[in-house]
This record gives sequence, C-alpha cells and structure tokens, in this order.
Amino acid sequence: MVDLTLTDEQQDLRELAHSFAEKDIRKVAWDYDKDGTWPQDIIEKAWEIGLMNTHIAEEYGGPGLDFLSGCLIEEEMGWGCSGIGTSLMANGLASAPITLGGSEETKKKYLGMLAEAPKLASFCLTEPDAGSDVSGMKTRAVKQGDKYVLTGSKCFITNGSYADYFTVYAKTDPEAGHRGISAFVVDADSPGVSVDKKEDKMGQRASNTATISFSDTEVPEGNLLGEENHGFKLAMMTLDRTRPGVAAMAVGIGKAALEFASDYSKERVQFGVPIAMHQAVAFMIADMATKVEAGRLLVWQSAVLLDQGKRNTLAASHAKRFSADSAMEIATDAVQVYGGYGFIKEYPVEKLMRDAKIMQLYEGTSQIQRLVIAKELLMGRQADEETPEHKALKAKENGKAETEKEPATA
Ligand SMILES: Cc1cc2nc3c(=O)[nH]c(=O)nc-3n(C[C@H](O)[C@H](O)[C@H](O)COP(=O)(O)OP(=O)(O)OC[C@H]3O[C@@H](n4cnc5c(N)ncnc54)[C@H](O)[C@@H]3O)c2cc1C
Repeated sequence: MVDLTLTDEQQDLRELAHSFAEKDIRKVAWDYDKDGTWPQDIIEKAWEIGLMNTHIAEEYGGPGLDFLSGCLIEEEMGWGCSGIGTSLMANGLASAPITLGGSEETKKKYLGMLAEAPKLASFCLTEPDAGSDVSGMKTRAVKQGDKYVLTGSKCFITNGSYADYFTVYAKTDPEAGHRGISAFVVDADSPGVSVDKKEDKMGQRASNTATISFSDTEVPEGNLLGEENHGFKLAMMTLDRTRPGVAAMAVGIGKAALEFASDYSKERVQFGVPIAMHQAVAFMIADMATKVEAGRLLVWQSAVLLDQGKRNTLAASHAKRFSADSAMEIATDAVQVYGGYGFIKEYPVEKLMRDAKIMQLYEGTSQIQRLVIAKELLMGRQADEETPEHKALKAKENGKAETEKEPATA
C-alpha cells in the first residue's frame, strides 16, 4: 500500500524546521545574502535544536533519523534560505563517506565530533580541471610507511573556510582513472592544509565556498575510508544519499517562489483587476504549483527507497534533475509575475532566481543527472535492488560475509 502520511514525529520535525526557517532564517536571509554574511549564529542554533547531522547514528551521538525526515528539514531550509540551508546541510555530504567507509574508530571520532558540538566538515571532490569528470583529478595520495601524503587542490568547497575536517578524494593509482581514487579524512589543522580563496558568488551568498589546498599533508593510514582505489564508488554512493536532500532544498526554493508570486498576483492590479485574474498569470502559478508537488513526490520516493535499504540511484537523479530545473523555472516565472519589480533587489524573488541556479550545478549538474538516468535505464538496473549496506547487514545477521560489491554508477 502506498501511504504518503507522515508519522507524528516527522510532522513535528517538519513544523520545528518550518518555524526555525520562518523565525530565524527568513528574517535575516536577504541581509545575509547582500553582504555574504557567514551565518554562524544560525548554525549554532540549528545544531542546538537538532536540525543538523540528522543522519548520524545514535551510537555515534546523532539522532539517527531516517532519510525522509532529513528531506523534510531540507525542504524547509530551502524555503527559508537555500544559502544558509546549504551551510547547515553540508555536514551530511562530508560525513556520508565516513558512515559508508570509515573504521569504527574513525566513525566514533569524526561523526562524534559533529554530534558533540556545532562543528563543520566539508566534502572535497571537485578540482579546477575535474568537475563532472572526477577521474581527471590531480590530487595525489602517496603511501609512505603508515601514512599517506596528500598534495593537490580542491575548488568550490562548501563550508571550506570553517570546516574542522575534510573528506578528501585523491589519486592513489594515477593510471587507473576513476578506479585509482581513494577517500580520506583530513583534519583541517593538519600541516600543509590551506584555505586559499573564498568565492564571490551569484547566489547562495551566505554559504561559504572556498579552495582548499594540501601540500605534503600527512594523513594516518587509519583515515583511509573504505578500500584503497574504491573512493569513486564511495563518492557515488554518497551522492545517492545526499541528492534527495539537495532536491528537497530545490523544492523549498520553488515553494517560496510560488508563495511570493501567488500573493503578489492577488495584490497587483492591472487593467482594473488583480493580475491573478488574467489567465496567462494564473496558469503560470498553476504550473509552478504542479512542479512543487511533483518534485516533492520524487524527493520522498528517492528518500523512502534509501530508508527501505534499496538502491535509489535512478530515483535520486530523477528527483535532483526535476526539482533543480523546476526551482529555476519557478523562480524565473516568479520574477515574471512581479514584472519589473521582480528584477529589483528590494523585492524577494530576485534572490530566489539567483539561488535556484546553483541547484542545477552542484552535486552533479542537470546534464549529469540525465546521464545517470539514461545509463540506469539503458543498463536495465533494478530500481529496488538492495544497497550493499543492507546486504552486508543481512549477511551479518545470517552469519555470512558480504561478497557482492556495488559497481560504479557514473
Ligand atoms: C556554490 C558551489 C558549491 C559547491 N560545493 C562543492 C563541495 O562542497 N564539494 C565539491 O567537491 N564540489 C562542490 N562544488 C562543485 C560542483 O559540484 C561542480 O561545480 C559541478 O560538479 C560541475 O563541475 P564543473 O563546475 O567543473 O563543470 P564542468 O564539469 O566543467 O561542466 C561544464 C558544463 O558541461 C556540462 N557537461 C560536462 N560533462 C558533460 C557530459 N558528459 N555530458 C553533458 N554535459 C556535460 C555540465 O553539465 C556543465 O553544463 C560546488 C560548486 C559550487 C558552484
């Protein structure tokens, strides 16, 4: 039976997140956007009331919430301000490779760190010459005794200037393309780590985006995540887990734009009637609403598959692609509904249009989502296959070791 009713706990969490977005985020969002102000006060409060690090398991100090609950929070953060929302949610992206591939000791230390205090972590995959095609990365990790030595540079790193640690992808076998990448946890205060550049962005200006460089940075071998040369798979499995949340944030932007446009269309009078009475405007509003509803359903589907321990690669790319493109379309149409006022910074929808653009770019562009969707469909993978962790868990319960490995998906 398909039942879209939220549990009481999920409903309460959604209300808590909405109230926080309304009272704590919205009231400063447009000012923080103007000056690119870092939202430290909001991060501390969000951490305090339990809106951050929701996926960290209880055994490491987190609440261990399901993925659907995480998406409910992310939609509300996107509705409040997706720039601040991105700052709040980036720990999920950085910590997923640790959850998936870290040793018990690594999980205790680095997941515990985020649960114990309002600290931040960043996910370092992108490089100047390696964006959509991460196999071209140049950052190297060379094994020397019981350490790896990292050298290279990562760009566009969310929360980079404020992170306490980074999950870093580097080549351990430079000749092997994406099969030569490994993932590591690197403390931000390790010798040789530097924060080189804070980007001045079009949108999501309250989020921090920086370049992080590693110069002969020594990392203990215990900080290797998963197996050597299996980092690409870890990155793809991470994105399967985080794309539903990014898509949820895009739904939040769309919902905010829809509400502003809808309210304005009922107030603004032209040709003697509110512009909402002109069918061309009313139909724009109707299309915006359909896109918000459809995006949310895709988000929920991709999150629920994860919660059921099933493979959600296809569903996550459907959700991310559709919700990101919809957010951009809805925000652009909201500016259209406002007419010339929509183009003026004093009115709210101009910021939403700038913010929406990044949803089509980060965590895999809309073109890359289409590549994943096409590949999944043409390869004929089963959308509801169990995930490797689910299989491993079952094998453990049955006293068997996990044998089957997940192939790379993009
Ligand atoms: C604000 C911001 C925050 C970010 N945060 C992080 C972060 O925390 N960590 C991190 O590692 N990265 C982060 N990124 C990087 C982001 O994920 C990349 O920018 C993105 O993956 C695209 O890579 P690129 O910019 O190099 O574009 P490119 O890969 O150079 O792509 C350029 C264009 O070509 C298209 N294209 C490329 N290949 C194909 C193809 N095969 N088929 C069709 N079209 C294609 C793309 O869709 C795009 O339109 C962030 C970026 C920004 C701007």
